[in-house]
Amino acid sequence: MSHGHHQRTPFVATCPDCNVERDAEPANEVVEFYRRHHRHTGHDVVLTRADLDVDLEAEVALEDPATDVATVVDALESHYETGVPIGIVAAAMRQRGFTVGETLEAIYEVRMTGALYEPRDDHLAAF
Ligand SMILES: [Zn+2]
Repeated sequence: MSHGHHQRTPFVATCPDCNVERDAEPANEVVEFYRRHHRHTGHDVVLTRADLDVDLEAEVALEDPATDVATVVDALESHYETGVPIGIVAAAMRQRGFTVGETLEAIYEVRMTGALYEPRDDHLAAF
């Protein structure tokens, strides 16, 4: 047993194909990790730890990732003044069973419909 890690980072992302694990803090580092890893390998990345401050009632079953992404942003928005970091959205989507890649795809889809926008880079708000 290693005692090297005294502090838990709130977010940990893993590539199940490579068994590469990455601590992320802040949450958007999960997305940076995904983008880099996906670019080099084509692999998807999963959050294995996501300590969210906000309880999202994740048990609500919804029909598709696009609907979930919109719901998650809507629920979290009041907690973030300048948009919800997409890493936080990915963490909330993880509770609903989606990977980081699936989450980013869903975000892209919903942004195309105009229901979500980015008040700044990699942060989301709902119209
Ligand atoms: Zn990989």
